[in-house]
Amino acid sequence: MQNRRPTRQIVLGDKRVGFVKIGGGLPLADGTPTTPAPVSVQTMTTGYTWDIDKCVAEINRLTAAGADVIRVAVPEKKDTEALKEIIPRVKVPIVADVHFHFQRALEAVEAGVHKIRLNPGNIQDRKQVIDVIQACKARKIPIRIGVNEGSIIERKDKQKRLKELGAFFSESKRGYLLAIMITKLEEYLDIFHEQDFHDIVISAKSMDVPTVIDAYTEISKRFDYPLHLGVTHAGPKETGAIRSVVALGTLLANGVGDTLRISYASDSRFEVEDGLELLYSLGLRERKTAELIACPTCGRIQVDLITLVQDVRKKLEGQINLPIKVAVMGCIVNGPGEAEGADVAVFAGDRRGIIYVQGEKVANVPEAEILDRLLEQCLAFQDRVNRGEAKLGEKKVDIVPPDPIGELGSGWEAMAGKIKTQPTELTVGRS
Ligand code: SF4
Repeated sequence: MQNRRPTRQIVLGDKRVGFVKIGGGLPLADGTPTTPAPVSVQTMTTGYTWDIDKCVAEINRLTAAGADVIRVAVPEKKDTEALKEIIPRVKVPIVADVHFHFQRALEAVEAGVHKIRLNPGNIQDRKQVIDVIQACKARKIPIRIGVNEGSIIERKDKQKRLKELGAFFSESKRGYLLAIMITKLEEYLDIFHEQDFHDIVISAKSMDVPTVIDAYTEISKRFDYPLHLGVTHAGPKETGAIRSVVALGTLLANGVGDTLRISYASDSRFEVEDGLELLYSLGLRERKTAELIACPTCGRIQVDLITLVQDVRKKLEGQINLPIKVAVMGCIVNGPGEAEGADVAVFAGDRRGIIYVQGEKVANVPEAEILDRLLEQCLAFQDRVNRGEAKLGEKKVDIVPPDPIGELGSGWEAMAGKIKTQPTELTVGRS
């Protein structure tokens, strides 16, 4: 994977909620060097901001799920009024999502918000934009400029610039759209630069994956501000996940992107979980909780593995606070190879499971006991790591078939028709 693209670095937050850095690698204005901050995960609340208790509860639930930054919509004055009560009750930087009413931005700044999101398409009045910039500058609050296709600001040389960029992008099917996005950004940034304001994050979302990849790639070559990645209107989790992961994963693997939001028409908790999982998969964030490896099952399966995997996932959540690798394998044929590197593993067969901890066999239990005994071993292993008696990933699972097959016996015929082979909940990917 390529190194992260160096950018300016912005910081949002305060002493009470903590500070989140976005981007980095270029020196600060005073010459202080920076290094790229971990890619942060953002999400947005789905309830009304004015409904204070519910909004606080949702923010706290998303914070517990791992969100680094949370955005709230502030369409009305009652929403920015509510921010004054919400912000002291949460422990995460809050971003005000402002559309159409620049006054909402000023009110949100006054309420103590940590970042503002502006859309050049619907706050175009130069004087209003300057008022927001000055308010943010006075309080050292960063602004995200979120550019989208529908918004163009008039400027004298717009047609000329569009022509130039259009020619540059003529090879691309999306050339004209990219030209508009870049022109729009240039003209909006002009206003910020005139005010000597550089605490900026840029986003250029679209619902079309190739457009997202092209737009962010081109913007990353032209501007040195950190980038907020996202696919808009990605749809429900079931389909939106693939769309988002393809676009964001491609960019991140190429070193582009400093913070992200995966957008689903679902509970925002899934946006946080999937954003984190994407970053773990690319090695861009350090996993803090258990990593579950599970086989996809096949005609050799001899326990109800799909249910078992879901149950294990739920049990590990909240109980394991170390990146322990846990493998749940349907049989001993391919299981050991696929579970290589797991700290705790179970290999199933003939309605039983053999449990291993760092290569050492510790139990052979009936199917009904696998879940509890596996969790017991995970917790015991976690305690040993915490006491300094064991290290994560130190010893490999090392099983030489066919020995354990003899121990488990062959129960394929007996199993026919007795186990579930179709998942009821698609929360663990198939390999
Ligand atoms: S581990 Fe065994 S049951 Fe699972 S997919 Fe591989 S061969 Fe099939």
